[in-house]
Amino acid sequence: HSKEQGRNTYNFYTEKMNKDVARRLLIEEHLRSALNKDEFYVIFQPVVDLRRRVVIGAEALLRWNNSEMGNVQPDEFIPIAEQTGLIVTIGQYVLEQAFMVISGWREKYAIDFQVAVNISPRQFRDAGLVEYIQKLLEKYSLPASAIELEITEGVLMTGHGMIDVALSDLNKMGMGISMDDFGTGYSSLSYLRSYPFDTLKVDKSFINDITVDQADLQLVSAAIAMGQGLGLKVIAEGVETEEQYQLLLDHQCEYGQGYLFSRPVPADEFELLLETGVVHS
Ligand code: C2E
Ligand code: MG
Ligand code: MG
Ligand code: MG
Repeated sequence: HSKEQGRNTYNFYTEKMNKDVARRLLIEEHLRSALNKDEFYVIFQPVVDLRRRVVIGAEALLRWNNSEMGNVQPDEFIPIAEQTGLIVTIGQYVLEQAFMVISGWREKYAIDFQVAVNISPRQFRDAGLVEYIQKLLEKYSLPASAIELEITEGVLMTGHGMIDVALSDLNKMGMGISMDDFGTGYSSLSYLRSYPFDTLKVDKSFINDITVDQADLQLVSAAIAMGQGLGLKVIAEGVETEEQYQLLLDHQCEYGQGYLFSRPVPADEFELLLETGVVHS
């Protein structure tokens, strides 16, 4: 009996593994032609000044709609784009879209506004990244301060000297550097000490339960105090409810992002938020 059970378990796992591998290969194949087929687009989620409840910036987020597979989530396709190196050209597309859109907004609304773009480890290992960004700043007449680059500690963990040089070059140019998903890694604290961060984004997994989990609330409260003590802008990610919002305010958190204020939306929809300025829930 146990032998049979063992075999079934084995079959179950191999079947699942085969399915995962097949899905991965399918995604990889479609990713290769996605740029040419114009299947990507970039949407924007407001970053909100919590006290005044006004929009002060945006995060650019990539979306992919494939003719065969439909919408594929970034959490699924970004790692594959990363492993195959495709993220380098896809990332250039995201940067250009974000720069173009923010340059339009700054002109149209005469606002001093910042847009954040996620940059993955493989992009930082690309020797052309800094130059590419410099060219885009010129092309869209943007000051470096209009852009913030979001990195996770995965970028820093690779131990490439090149990444340190790129980060310090970008920082010297005046570009903001943001630590994304703070708290989820292994050594966020030591990286905070060694790199020129401007912003700290507290991961949404910590924000999720702050209204019911005293420990999570303590961790978030400590992260806010520490970030602000270091002179960083602290952003709470994944604010979904009025109760979370109130608690964050009580703990002096200045900035937030989340479905309570707005989901990520296309640029034209984002403009409606800019026109009213205020985000209601
Ligand atoms: P991230 O950079 O931490 O982005 C925040 C994610 O949280 C986004 O998911 C956003 O839609 C989601 N989010 C925002 N507010 C809420 C909320 O209130 N509740 C919940 N449950 N989620 C919320 P998204 O767009 O699916 O992106 C997932 C991840 O994929 C991003 O995490 C980022 O690591 C990566 N990613 C997205 N776009 C890009 C890109 O252009 N380049 C790179 N390298 N990575 C990207
Ligand atoms: Mg991010
Ligand atoms: Mg994040
Ligand atoms: Mg993330």
